[in-house]
Amino acid sequence: MSSTPARIISGTALAQSVREQVAEDVKALQAKGIHPGLTVVLIGEDPASQVYVRNKALACEKAGINSDVIRLPASTTQDELLALIEKLNQDDGVDGILVQLPLPSHLDEHLVIESISPAKDVDGFHISNAGLLMTGQPLFRPCTPYGVMKMLESEQVALRGAEAVIVGASNIVGKPMAMMLLAAGATVTLCNSKTRDLAAHTRRADVLVVAVGRPNMIKGDMIKPGAVVIDVGINRLDDGKLAGDVEFASASQVASAITPVPGGVGPMTIAMLLVNTLEAAERRANKES
Ligand code: NAP
Repeated sequence: MSSTPARIISGTALAQSVREQVAEDVKALQAKGIHPGLTVVLIGEDPASQVYVRNKALACEKAGINSDVIRLPASTTQDELLALIEKLNQDDGVDGILVQLPLPSHLDEHLVIESISPAKDVDGFHISNAGLLMTGQPLFRPCTPYGVMKMLESEQVALRGAEAVIVGASNIVGKPMAMMLLAAGATVTLCNSKTRDLAAHTRRADVLVVAVGRPNMIKGDMIKPGAVVIDVGINRLDDGKLAGDVEFASASQVASAITPVPGGVGPMTIAMLLVNTLEAAERRANKES
């Protein structure tokens, strides 16, 4: 066990400073006549998606980014959605397009994401953005792992040569996280549901990132003393409280630094969406000048 409890890495505080910087940069762009704009497309009535979209729009508004939310009924057809995305692709006032996931089951998620212009894909989910990230020439980085990298940077965590272990290998978190840590010089292990002896891997980690969606699955005895632990998981418990994928009470006795849930990676995800939208608008400004 570590003799002192872990330092808490506050995503709330870091996200606030990122958002303030974005707001300043947006003002500078506006002075040049460029007004950054994000369009969010929400299909159906999923309550969690409604909350996410509202929070994204509010964050844009506070940063001075124009945000437009297009709400469509769950009955929207694939052709209707693709036609709308094509219209947004062509609209010069739209820097970023985000289609809120999950989609109703009759819509093909891959096809929809691939129909977004890669130059406006501020979620960083388009196959060409995934490929660019993989080959070391990122255009848009997926917001959650991008936010994790910002947290590690602000904590001055040494990544070159470090053992980084990621638990969870989804396209939106685990895989792009692996690419970003690899690019930073870490030796990366990516675990999934078939991993044998998960604890043998997690115990080797100098930096442990967990993104599975199972409350409290990583306990203190699965963590190397002094490790930096990033908990991406957000799980709603039966009593209504939120819990991460890491058991905070035991993990914080072993780790040197740890993110809380809530108030950790979550706020950073929205902050990095603003960063990506700003970057898109800056590229437009450079093209127009
Ligand atoms: P996902 O698409 O469901 O992927 C989960 C991953 O975990 C899969 O790769 C799966 O392995 C792996 N897994 C499942 N059980 C495992 C086990 N016992 N041991 C090791 N790996 C296991 O999830 P996601 O979208 O990445 O989300 C993960 C969590 O992060 C969720 O709680 C989600 O709410 C949260 N999240 C938070 C933010 C944020 O802003 N903080 C953003 C996105 C997601 P297989 O590949 O073998 O199936």
